[in-house]
Amino acid sequence: QPAAKVASQPAGAAAPQSASQRPVVRLEHARKAFGGNQVLNDISLSVSPGEVVAIIGPSGGGKSTLLRCMTLLERLDGGGLWYGGFSAGEDGELAVARPASGDPRGRAVYGDKGALAQARQRFGLVFQSFNLFPHMSVMRNIMDAPLVVQKRERAEVERQARGLVQKMGLAGCEDKVPCQLSGGQQQRASIARALAMNPQVLYFDEPTSALDPELTGEVLKVLKQLAAEDTTMIVVTHEMAFARDVADRVVFMDGGVIVEEGPAEQVMDAPAHERTREFLSRFS
Ligand code: ADP
Ligand code: MG
Repeated sequence: QPAAKVASQPAGAAAPQSASQRPVVRLEHARKAFGGNQVLNDISLSVSPGEVVAIIGPSGGGKSTLLRCMTLLERLDGGGLWYGGFSAGEDGELAVARPASGDPRGRAVYGDKGALAQARQRFGLVFQSFNLFPHMSVMRNIMDAPLVVQKRERAEVERQARGLVQKMGLAGCEDKVPCQLSGGQQQRASIARALAMNPQVLYFDEPTSALDPELTGEVLKVLKQLAAEDTTMIVVTHEMAFARDVADRVVFMDGGVIVEEGPAEQVMDAPAHERTREFLSRFS
């Protein structure tokens, strides 16, 4: 279990914290619209080291957009986004976007290229459809970003990649290309590829929804194992059992707002809001 399970911080509460307590990622008053469609409406979310946060909610509620903004695939219109320091002792957070003019709900002003490049090294992202390079072997898929983006030493990267192949249950698949793998194996290779960057936080957007039920289990098992090792994870999921049993905190999103969030048992078994109850009742 994670040492620190801190609830989402109140807006503007930026008390000094030691590196180990500091949120891994912090989003404050995030706003995002597509045309006239307000998809994220004042979302604040702060995730502690070792925490597993499940994001649930109906389709179209803004879950993917939230992850896409946190992973810099989309830009916020307003609010701010910060990533925590890499290691204990490192001061300060990395500001990806800050609200303009001191107003916490102000227009989001993004950092320079260097800051964004640094931020991109701090997270990994696993999508619903396995986003492996189709022409590369499993090993090359895993080793590519550590070699090319992080410019790490080949022997060390290869050692880590072999370890990740074992850990993800992919022994024997090292030299296979994605089309030779099952969907579950491809998704586990995607997870290995994300882990190879040594991210501080892993994001998953419905990692099992493209899989047959029997392959869903093997991917959830890997997520469960990562959670047990205190990997910080934010998982958008339709797997309610996973949210209840594995997540520390559950966030219910609908219509671009966080309707309700809290400890997993509380939100899943005793939701406070009618919209949460109605959503959960679809799964029982
Ligand atoms: P969820 O993941 O919860 O199903 P999304 O974040 O995918 O929700 O979508 C939320 C809303 O944003 C939907 O109305 C969707 O149509 C809209 N949306 C998402 N991405 C785009 C985009 N790139 N351009 C325009 N509208 C978008
Ligand atoms: Mg989505």
